[in-house]
Amino acid sequence: MDSQLGTSPSYTWRGIWESKWVLRRGICWRVGNGANIGVWDDSWIPGTQSRRLLSPRGINDAQMKVNELINSETYGVYSFRSAYRALINDEWLKEEEAPSMVNNFWGKILSLHVLPRVKIFAWRACQNAIPTLRGINSRIQTFDATCCICGRENETTIHALRECNLAREIWLCSTFSKVLEGSFASLIDWWEWCIKEFEEHEVEEIITLSWAIWNARNKAVLLGEKLEPSSVLSYARKVCEELRGVEMKKGGGRADGRTDAAGWKPPDTGLAKVNVDAGLLGEVGSGIGVVCIDDRGEITCCAAVQFAEIWDTKIAEAKAVFWGMKVALETGLSDIVIESDCLQVVDALRNKIQGTSHFHLILDDIVALAFNFSSVVWSFVKHGGNKVAHELAHYQPWDVGKRVWRNVIPPRISAVAANDILV
Ligand SMILES: [Zn+2]
Repeated sequence: MDSQLGTSPSYTWRGIWESKWVLRRGICWRVGNGANIGVWDDSWIPGTQSRRLLSPRGINDAQMKVNELINSETYGVYSFRSAYRALINDEWLKEEEAPSMVNNFWGKILSLHVLPRVKIFAWRACQNAIPTLRGINSRIQTFDATCCICGRENETTIHALRECNLAREIWLCSTFSKVLEGSFASLIDWWEWCIKEFEEHEVEEIITLSWAIWNARNKAVLLGEKLEPSSVLSYARKVCEELRGVEMKKGGGRADGRTDAAGWKPPDTGLAKVNVDAGLLGEVGSGIGVVCIDDRGEITCCAAVQFAEIWDTKIAEAKAVFWGMKVALETGLSDIVIESDCLQVVDALRNKIQGTSHFHLILDDIVALAFNFSSVVWSFVKHGGNKVAHELAHYQPWDVGKRVWRNVIPPRISAVAANDILV
C-alpha cells in the first residue's frame, strides 16, 4: 500500500497503483486470532470510516495486539465475527446478491465480442461492484456520495456512465446519442433497452464506450485530468477495431501485415518500419536494438537499450518490441510496422494471446502502448533482414541504459546499414 508509482511504470502496475486509494478505503484486516494486528495502528474495525480505534492511546499499550482484547474463553473470535455482521448494513448484503434479471440479458452480455476486461467491467458494473461514490457510501456511510464531477446528485453506476455531465458530453459527441433518450432506474434497465434498440455490433461499441467513460471518470476523479470527449471516443473505437482485427493503415500494403520477408524491405508509403532485436551480452546482461526507417529507406532513429538482467529469449524479444514502440513513440511516429525476427512474439501479438505469465504481461504492455499509434502492424522477418537491429542489440561499449541516435547512424552500425538497409 505504501509503494511508489516509479518513473516508467508498466500499464498493469499503473492500473494497480491507481486503484490503491480504493483498496485503502475498502481494506480492513480480518481479525482472525488478532495476534498480528496492532490495536492502535492498524485498520481493523469494520463499519467505521477510519476503521481504526480513535480513542486516546494509553502509554503502556502502544504495541498492544488485538488478540489481547479477545477473551477467547468466553467470546473467542466468534464475538468479533458477530459484531462484524451486526455492523454491516443491509446495503452491503443487497449488493453481494446478484441482481435479479432476465437470463437472456446475461447471456447477451457474455456473448458480446468485446475485450475481456470490457466484459468484466460490464459484469461488475451491472452488479454495482465498480467503486462509484454511492457504492463506497453504502459501505462507509459518512462517505459523501455526491458526484464530484457535476455535483448534481449521488454518483450511482448509471449516473457515472450515463447521467453525469462528463458521460453525457461523450455520448452526445458519439454516434449513439440516442442512448440518452428516456430515463432508466438502473444500469441493467438501460443496457437491456440498448440491447433491444441497437444491432449487436452497436451494443458492443456502447458497452466498450461505457467502459472508456468509466476510465475517463477515474482520470477525472482520481487525477483531476479532464479528457476531451473526442479522445475518449477514438480510444473506444480503437479498442473495438483492434478486436475486430481491423488494421487501420494509411497507404497501401497487405492488410494482414504479413510481410514475412527474408531480407529487409522498406515499408509501404506513409508507414515507418521499426526493426527490433534482443541479444545477450555475454554474461553481463541483455541488449535491445531498435532502428526506425522511413518509407524512403532512410534511418531516422537508432537506439540501443542495455540491461543488467538476463532473460530467456521469448521475454527478451517481447521486451525488444516494447522498447521499439517506446522509441517510435518518442520519435513521433504514428503508423508503424514493428518487425521482429521472433515468430513466437509476432504470432502471440497477431493472435491476441492472453494469459498471466511474465511474457503475457509484457504483451499487455505492448498492446496498451499500441493505442498511442494510429496503426501498428506486427511483422516477422528472418534474421537476415534484421541485421541492423541485431548489431544494435549487441552494441559496444556496454553501458546500462538507453542510447538513442536521431538522424545520425552510430559509427559501428553504418557499414551494416549501408549493406542492408539503404535502398
Ligand atoms: Zn456527475
